Amino acid sequence: MTAVDVLIIGAGPAGLTAATYLARFRRSVLVADGGEPRAAWIPLSHNMPGFPEGIGGDAILTRMRLQAEEYGAQIRPVFVEGLAREGDGFTARLGDVRITARAVLLATGWWTITRTCPESRTPSPGGWCASAPSATASRPSANPSR
Ligand SMILES: Cc1cc2nc3c(=O)[nH]c(=O)nc-3n(C[C@H](O)[C@H](O)[C@H](O)COP(=O)(O)OP(=O)(O)OC[C@H]3O[C@@H](n4cnc5c(N)ncnc54)[C@H](O)[C@@H]3O)c2cc1C
Repeated sequence: MTAVDVLIIGAGPAGLTAATYLARFRRSVLVADGGEPRAAWIPLSHNMPGFPEGIGGDAILTRMRLQAEEYGAQIRPVFVEGLAREGDGFTARLGDVRITARAVLLATGWWTITRTCPESRTPSPGGWCASAPSATASRPSANPSR
């Protein structure tokens, strides 16, 4: 079983920002990267400080990952399936792997809930489908926040 100071769930801008700060404060950090961050949808962002000419979502994420890893954060392509309180900390279930952490930071963004599921996903018992953005039917072509 792996033990870390902080388990960060989600490797979008929120999780990666937290990872860089915590790693710089010499905490052992594991980032669980469930994939398909909403940030990857950004065609060209014009509100990222330091990039007056704009920067795309994939480039932002690549830079943020490098920065977090530079300070020692580990980023793993895993989905956290379960989380429970244990003693003073937490135990997380990632497939067959168990992680213990003194603290857990939820940076899971938000998912689109639809009535219909793509074939690759199983609906909830209530019939709803929680889909990451790119699994939903339509993907906006323009940047709404520009
Ligand atoms: C088309 C478009 C354009 C945009 N343009 C801009 C812009 O120009 N400027 C701007 O500021 N914002 C923009 N946004 C908004 C921006 O993308 C979001 O605000 C940002 O991505 C939120 O970051 P986040 O880290 O909270 O979540 P996300 O980027 O969604 O990342 C969350 C991550 O958590 C992971 N996750 C969830 N559950 C688990 C689990 N159990 N285990 C492991 N991982 C898990 C997900 O898989 C995902 O990778 C835009 C959004 C869209 C769709």
